[in-house]
Amino acid sequence: MLSPVGRLRHYPRCNAFFTTSHAEESDPDMTADTSPDQLTRFLLEEAGIRGVHVRLDETWAQIRSRAEYPADVAALLGEAVAATALFTGHVKVDGRLSVQLRGDGALRTLFAECTGAGTLRAIATMAEGDIEDMHSLSSLGPDALLAITIENPGARNQEPSRYQGLVGLDADTLSEAFEDYFRQSEQLPTRLLLAANHDRVSGLMLQKLPGDEGDLDGWERASALFDTLAAPELMATPVETLLHRLFHEDGVRLLGEKPLKFACSCSCERVSAMLESLGEDEARAAVEHNAGQAEIRCEFCGETYRYSAEEVGALFSQRTTEWKAPERLQ
Ligand SMILES: [Zn+2]
Repeated sequence: MLSPVGRLRHYPRCNAFFTTSHAEESDPDMTADTSPDQLTRFLLEEAGIRGVHVRLDETWAQIRSRAEYPADVAALLGEAVAATALFTGHVKVDGRLSVQLRGDGALRTLFAECTGAGTLRAIATMAEGDIEDMHSLSSLGPDALLAITIENPGARNQEPSRYQGLVGLDADTLSEAFEDYFRQSEQLPTRLLLAANHDRVSGLMLQKLPGDEGDLDGWERASALFDTLAAPELMATPVETLLHRLFHEDGVRLLGEKPLKFACSCSCERVSAMLESLGEDEARAAVEHNAGQAEIRCEFCGETYRYSAEEVGALFSQRTTEWKAPERLQ
C-alpha cells in the first residue's frame, strides 16, 4: 500500500478546522462531539462516491450495560455494531440487517442487528473456561465465518424475503474483513473504518458508485485521503467537520440523517415460539427445575419472561388443538 503521506501532497486535506486537531490526536479517548446517536448519508459528487457515517454513544452504553465483556471483546462487538448501522445506510432495509461472526475459538460469536426503524441490539458469546487473549479476530479460531443477513417483511401480499451473504474470515481487523466482503459480494471498491472505545462507537464507509460516475482518479483520491484518517480522529470529530476536512475538494453533499437507538425485538410471542420449539417435555422440565415457574431471560436486553406450569400447558394444548382440528373435520 502506498504511503498516505506521499499522497497528501497531491490531495490536500482542508486545514481550516485543524486548530484543535493536535489535542484530538494526542488523546484517543477525547469525545468532544456530543451529537446524538445517528447515521449520516452523503455523496462525494466530484468523485462519484457514496458514503455513510455513524456515531453511537447512548446506544452503545445500553448495549454494554447488558453484559460484562472483557475490554477486547467489547471493542470488537462495538465495531460490529458500528458496521451494522453503517450497512443500513447503504442498502434499503425494511426489516432488519444483522452482522454475525462465528467461530470455535475463545470467542464464539459476535452478533449485531439494526432494524429499518433504527434500533440496534448486539451480543458477544465466549467459550467457557479460561479466557485467553481475545484482542483480534483470530480469537474466533481458524475457520471463522462472517455473515450479513437482511430480512424484510413481505409487503402487499409478497412473501418475506431473506438474503444472506457468507464469507470466510481472512483478515486481522473487522474493517478489513468487511472491505473484503464487499469486494467479493458486490465487486465495488469499498473503504471502511470502524472504531470503538468504552464510551463510543463510530464508523465511516465509502463506496464507489456503480458505473462511470465521477472523474477518473476520484476513487484513488478519496481512498488516499481515507488512509489518512485514524480511529481517534474519527471518534472525536463531528461528522460535518470530518467530511469537510477530508473531502472538501470533492463536493461533499449531505443526504440526510437518521436517529439510532437501542431497542430489543424480543416479545412474549417470540419467547412462546421458542418454548414450543423446545418441545413439551423440555418446557415442562424447565418449570419443574425452577420452583414451578420457567424463566427465560433475553440475553440482548435482560428482560425476563416467566411461565407457570399452567401457561406452559396452555402453549402445548393450543398447538395440539390446532393440529388436531383437521382430523376432526375428516
Ligand atoms: Zn430482549
